[in-house]
Amino acid sequence: MTPQEVQSLRPDRNTSLRVDRPVGFLWEQEPGPDGELIDSAVLFLSNRECPWKCVMCDLWKDTLTESVQPGDIPKQIEFALQELKTADPNRSFAGAQIKLYNSGSFFDPKAIPTEDDPIITDLVQRYGFTRVIVECHPAFLGDRALRFQSLLPSTTRLEVAMGLESIHPDVCRQMGKGVDAEKYAKAALFLKENDMDHRAFMLVHPPYIRDRKSAMEWGRRTLKFALIQTEATFVSLIQTRGGNGAMEKLAEAGDWIKSTPAELKELSRFGIGLNAGRVLVDRWEG
Ligand code: SF4
Repeated sequence: MTPQEVQSLRPDRNTSLRVDRPVGFLWEQEPGPDGELIDSAVLFLSNRECPWKCVMCDLWKDTLTESVQPGDIPKQIEFALQELKTADPNRSFAGAQIKLYNSGSFFDPKAIPTEDDPIITDLVQRYGFTRVIVECHPAFLGDRALRFQSLLPSTTRLEVAMGLESIHPDVCRQMGKGVDAEKYAKAALFLKENDMDHRAFMLVHPPYIRDRKSAMEWGRRTLKFALIQTEATFVSLIQTRGGNGAMEKLAEAGDWIKSTPAELKELSRFGIGLNAGRVLVDRWEG
């Protein structure tokens, strides 16, 4: 499916977004490396849509069609953190982690203006977060990520979440993301060599795998690749879902089969059994 076809099948996007307000924010807990629960302030930033048009993506629904201006993203972050503080005054930001998710690539200058980096890192320092997790397509990893990291205090670690999705070569070729196992491994190595952690998002039953047995087999291979070969400290399993128009069309043609809760559980157990990193099921709907 071409990017134009993917776009032509789209339902409406959320038109109520504001440039100075995040799409959403919440507190969540996730297990740390030793199994202890860590608080995370999770912010979903309003920003311009990602330049790729991946066939399974619906994240564009909560994005803007134009870039935000310098200063807008820090305003969103301040707003979310103040609201989180008001909602739960006993929870401490100090020592917690902050996830700055933008439904695209944090280091894409058309998404998050580069001028805002020092203000964002100041905010992270002021609130006492010890880990910042941003999401990014491998193509946007480079000098900006290094500069951003250098602006953080030495006590704060930078972690980048990347959408690996699947290592199945046909899926990688047809999904529209321009990433395959090799490119992903290169990006993971860049992060490792520069002392950043990385976590992988992986699709359970991606499009273009036409039978359940193969989907599970490639799911296991992808998990092994992420945790063992690329040393992801964390893998989030995401059930591929419909709702963006394109996935419904693929399902009709037999090019996508939805995973069952039992399959999701089996893959998650397999990943945990590898004993090579944390594996969680990502239940976000956004
Ligand atoms: S790169 Fe990520 S955010 Fe962009 S279209 Fe693909 S899945 Fe969606």
